[in-house]
Amino acid sequence: MKTIYTDNNATTAVAPEVYEAMIPYLTANYFNPSSMYEPARATADALTDARKTIAGHLGVADPKQILLTSCASESNNTAIFGAAKANPNRRHVITTAVEHPAVLEVCKDLARSGFRVTFLPVDTDGNLSVEDFIRALDADTLLVTIMHANNETGVVFPIEQLSRLTKETDPSIVFHTDATQSVGKLPIDLNGNFRHVDLLSFSGHKLHAPKGIGALYMKRGTPCRPLLIGGHQEGGRRAGTENVPYIIALAKAVELATEHIEDEQTRIRALRDKLEQRLEDVIPHVQINGKGAQRLPNTSNISCHFIEGEGMLFELSQNGICASSGSACTSGSLEPSHVLIALNVPFTAVHGSIRFSFSRYNTDEDVDRIVEVFPEIVANLRKLSPYWDNETNSPRPEADGLVWRTQ
Ligand code: PLP
Repeated sequence: MKTIYTDNNATTAVAPEVYEAMIPYLTANYFNPSSMYEPARATADALTDARKTIAGHLGVADPKQILLTSCASESNNTAIFGAAKANPNRRHVITTAVEHPAVLEVCKDLARSGFRVTFLPVDTDGNLSVEDFIRALDADTLLVTIMHANNETGVVFPIEQLSRLTKETDPSIVFHTDATQSVGKLPIDLNGNFRHVDLLSFSGHKLHAPKGIGALYMKRGTPCRPLLIGGHQEGGRRAGTENVPYIIALAKAVELATEHIEDEQTRIRALRDKLEQRLEDVIPHVQINGKGAQRLPNTSNISCHFIEGEGMLFELSQNGICASSGSACTSGSLEPSHVLIALNVPFTAVHGSIRFSFSRYNTDEDVDRIVEVFPEIVANLRKLSPYWDNETNSPRPEADGLVWRTQ
């Protein structure tokens, strides 16, 4: 059976071009780039070129502003703890209720150690209120950390506007964005639309590089202390011998994703829209979470009322289709998604949510296959669901204290 992989917000396949680019740095050019002998020079040069490529594709003029890390979690930890440590005179941090745990848990940790943290709410479409944001900025604010695109719903926050408003209020407030889901999917120019952003995190494995490599853009002059100290690498901002093969891979992946961004994302958006349209046409009581907001082109978060996401995932998997319920990091726990709770998705739909996320390797046939099998999976699971039984045999679910909402 062919595997249809539609869980690209969890991780992506390594692109063949990326694999080919990195192999020589695992084999012949394995040297430590800091070593002084001749063969290591080619490795050091390749590292410099890779950093230039990454910087160039994000509009960063000085490649030294790209800090190479092991993953987006490390980039986020560095940005948030680093900014907090660098500014001991202020104690207020602003974030949102729907961040990835790699930001949310770091902010909660700051709150436990005495910082005041504002977790901005979102509306039922997943949008932030800009008025709430402006109200939250105060003289004690040291850091704003707000994601660019949500990993679960794909909802995009107006980073250009929020970072500009921050700097207009107080240029010394550090503005960080977790762009792990948007680099390579949305246009990002750190010298253009994102010029007011000080720190920006992302990760290789969301854009067809391997797992274990990430980056943090650090605008020159941004107060931010290192997380890893020891060696002199990365200009003293992150100790540890550079992961040269994966850095080469990241550069190739960023190049591939950003060079064809418009054509590729237009095609991916068409696949996603077709999937949503077809499923809405044939499955009763579905809602597309975040549909009323600006979203990533590749992400569809669909709630089928009255059933469990795990059942749907299992049945899809039996048909060779890989998707996820909530984010991969939180699936495996029975906790409902904090993102869908923040969107006020009703109880009967939070548990029945499923995320399909596409990449450049998905095809029209993949969508056709999902549309062929998914409605029947939903219908069969509903036959077994006591909530569905209630819905079809009793007047209204409000009788159980459940909130009812359909598309
Ligand atoms: N931030 C967002 C928005 C994510 O989606 C993820 C991973 O799913 C991360 C951070 C963490 O990325 P990494 O696995 O590279 O640490």
